Amino acid sequence: MLLSHLLHLEGIASVVLERRSREALEKTVRAGVLEHGTAELLKEVGVGERMEREGSVHSGIELRFGGRGHRIDFADLTDGLSITIYGQQEVVKDLIQARLETDGQILFEAEAASLHDLDTVSPRVHFQNDGEEEEISCDFVAGCDGFFGVCRDGIPENARTEYERTYPFAWFGILVEGPPSTEELIYTLHDRGFSLVSTRNPEIQRLYFQCDPADKVENWPDERIWDELSTRLATHDGWELADGNIFQKDIVQMRSFVCEPMQYGKLFLAGDAAHIVPPTGAKGMNLAVADIQVLAHALAEFYRSGDTGLLDAYSETCLHRVWRAQRFSWWMTSMLHRFDRSDPFQLKVQQAELGYVTSSRAAATTIAENYVGAALG
Ligand SMILES: Cc1cc2nc3c(=O)[nH]c(=O)nc-3n(C[C@H](O)[C@H](O)[C@H](O)COP(=O)(O)OP(=O)(O)OC[C@H]3O[C@@H](n4cnc5c(N)ncnc54)[C@H](O)[C@@H]3O)c2cc1C
Repeated sequence: MLLSHLLHLEGIASVVLERRSREALEKTVRAGVLEHGTAELLKEVGVGERMEREGSVHSGIELRFGGRGHRIDFADLTDGLSITIYGQQEVVKDLIQARLETDGQILFEAEAASLHDLDTVSPRVHFQNDGEEEEISCDFVAGCDGFFGVCRDGIPENARTEYERTYPFAWFGILVEGPPSTEELIYTLHDRGFSLVSTRNPEIQRLYFQCDPADKVENWPDERIWDELSTRLATHDGWELADGNIFQKDIVQMRSFVCEPMQYGKLFLAGDAAHIVPPTGAKGMNLAVADIQVLAHALAEFYRSGDTGLLDAYSETCLHRVWRAQRFSWWMTSMLHRFDRSDPFQLKVQQAELGYVTSSRAAATTIAENYVGAALG
């Protein structure tokens, strides 16, 4: 949706194929942390007005361990940069509205089935629409269909390398109707595992705690969830977790994944189609936006001048940021989760590391500048 909008601003036509309905897209709650550059881009391209009104700007996070909280002050450590809390589904709503207001072509409930002739001047996409098989032929295909889409397989197996790491834990996530417990996000390491207190807006809270990847939502009645979170988040100064009505529970698997290269012929992968990060660094959606900004710029240059230099460099340009975000997400994940609860040595090292990053300005700066994100472009 964002690529289609950016191309429209450059006078370039596109068709978006989207497997799901508009209603389903606008209701799916996923990411919620926008890096500084993501929020700025949305404002610059005219889709940030509601985000500015309804989103909330945070200039720090708390790291909590040993029963004490320690603030990482982004504004102080990064010359005034911040993050914006605004749900991914709200960004999607704003983009759909912007496209439809300018006669953008979004085909909802249209599922891409296969890609053809990607290494020719006229690639084709076969898709299902209203029960019929249809075909689009185009100049370029942007593969923005997430981790389970069909586009990544458009790069022949012998032309791509996949790097992957799975983690021995998952996140149990809840959505809660109720007041926030905190003004800023709280990331906690406890002997029983990781937990995160985050928010979507003043009425809806998003909380997570580390669980077994094979665990089931049915094993966790509300009371058990609140007990677990209260134990992991307890502080020596009596901080209290505000509870509320839990209206959604889910288990998110944790994986790091990168496909190299991110392009083949006229196909360009972007976002989760090319890479996945564990959510600890809040980078998934931000990386997708960063890829799209690079791709939109490269396509605009091609249509303006015929120069393919930026398109040819697309994968290399994006992968630089992707691996930087992979490192940060892996590092935050490693510092904040119990990999093996029978290993007290690991917990001691993690506590020492947290002690270091919350007491050294140099170390705190590495969290702050990675969390708010490098400038786009
Ligand atoms: C449950 C969950 C929670 C998450 N929480 C966080 C978080 O807290 N913080 C964070 O940073 N990240 C989070 N993420 C990750 C973040 O949401 C993704 O990184 C981001 O959505 C990537 O954007 P994308 O556009 O690449 O892929 P997607 O958002 O997945 O979009 C791909 C789209 O392609 C469509 N599609 C798929 N296949 C086809 C096809 N064959 N034909 C047509 N359309 C197709 C899908 O319906 C989908 O709408 C979460 C992800 C999940 C699943």
